[in-house]
Amino acid sequence: MFHQPPNNVLEWSTAIESGICMANLCEDWVDESFWRKAYNLSSGKEYRLTIWENFAISCDPMGIKYEDVYDPKDFARFNFHGHYYTDSDKLDEYLHFRQIPASVYWASVKGEIERMMKNPMIAAMMPTAETMKAHNKEIAAMRMGLVWMEENNETEWIQAFFGSLEEKNAQTSFDLHKPSEEETYLNHGYDEEKGIASLDAGDMNKAAGYRGGEYLEAEAKDIYTPVKWKCAFGHEFAMSANAVLHGGHWCPECLRKSWAYPKIARKNPFYAQVWDPQHSPEENYEIPMKYSAYEITKELKEKLGL
Ligand SMILES: [Zn+2]
Repeated sequence: MFHQPPNNVLEWSTAIESGICMANLCEDWVDESFWRKAYNLSSGKEYRLTIWENFAISCDPMGIKYEDVYDPKDFARFNFHGHYYTDSDKLDEYLHFRQIPASVYWASVKGEIERMMKNPMIAAMMPTAETMKAHNKEIAAMRMGLVWMEENNETEWIQAFFGSLEEKNAQTSFDLHKPSEEETYLNHGYDEEKGIASLDAGDMNKAAGYRGGEYLEAEAKDIYTPVKWKCAFGHEFAMSANAVLHGGHWCPECLRKSWAYPKIARKNPFYAQVWDPQHSPEENYEIPMKYSAYEITKELKEKLGL
């Protein structure tokens, strides 16, 4: 179990609005251009809260402070969770599901906890800082949890989430703040003005090159047809241009047996854009997977005759 760094910001989505979103996508009025794209589901800019702000909404009424439950040493520095997308409005433009103003929603969450705490019978059943801490510890002792990795001297796991045990133990205090909302953009390795349907084989090869690989077709094909690519490690695979360039996917073989992100970043400039700002070029761990999503998918496809 890895706690999310307290200053990570999420653009939260309410369960009600997620439900409306799912229901609306079945409606006849949804434009055809909606399909075959990747979206982020969130309730919008007003819902951007850090982990500690979100904690305070439900725990302040219980008299529990963030610092009473968490230990700064337990925050995985390299936990990827906690970000939002600059184009998260796109989904709402199609499906019109954002209906509850953030101030109304969070006030109702807080109000509900306050009401419960006024009832002594319910208040007695609510968790305390101590029980929350004990529960977190229990989860962390399970396989892949931070207690598990320290007790079993799982050096590569510790490196992946904390850098090193020394760096983990040097995290001794909290600095609770809200990060800047300045937007940054990735280079996707092709001319986005042109649009992926207009790219020729040369453009495709340039985009593949920016991922450390090659485009193995003589021509560009329909963006939804699987085409052949080669990654920086020599694996050949078939994937549509839509999945690669709009979906952000790449070589499945590279993720077949292990998590080898430091090695991938050294050969794939596209990936290095998100890896390098946080990591040292000296990192070289590779963690074997106990369960391979690749193998499971392959097995299912064979069973289903796909
Ligand atoms: Zn590969």
